[in-house]
Amino acid sequence: MGITTEGTCVNCNNDMETRNHLFCRCTLVIRLWKSILSLNGLKNATSSWDYMVTRASSTWKGKSLLTIILKVAWTIYVYILWEERNYRIFKDRHRSTEDLLKVIIEVVRIQLKGRNINRADKTNYNLCIAWGLA
Ligand SMILES: [Zn+2]
Repeated sequence: MGITTEGTCVNCNNDMETRNHLFCRCTLVIRLWKSILSLNGLKNATSSWDYMVTRASSTWKGKSLLTIILKVAWTIYVYILWEERNYRIFKDRHRSTEDLLKVIIEVVRIQLKGRNINRADKTNYNLCIAWGLA
């Protein structure tokens, strides 16, 4: 496309833009992923893309509400970070971590709207409260 970049991350301007940096190490994404995990009652540091993918594929199994939310949130997380990168490069438009989190929460809510959730389960109940699922 004739676009030349220096290879620096446009989200933080502090490091080279690698897959690891863009999705796991950038200051923008560390807070974002921690916020997503926190909404799920989880804690986990983002160490590397390979670690995140390996952990997701080995632990996010079954059809629990937590697993569904993690899969949906992860998909949106990856999409929105790539979108944010492109917004900053091509549209000079910047969103904060909080803005990105709001979008992720809204998409999770839309994806789960109308789903029959067993709220008698304490974990599900807490997830419904955290994610604002009616
Ligand atoms: Zn960065």
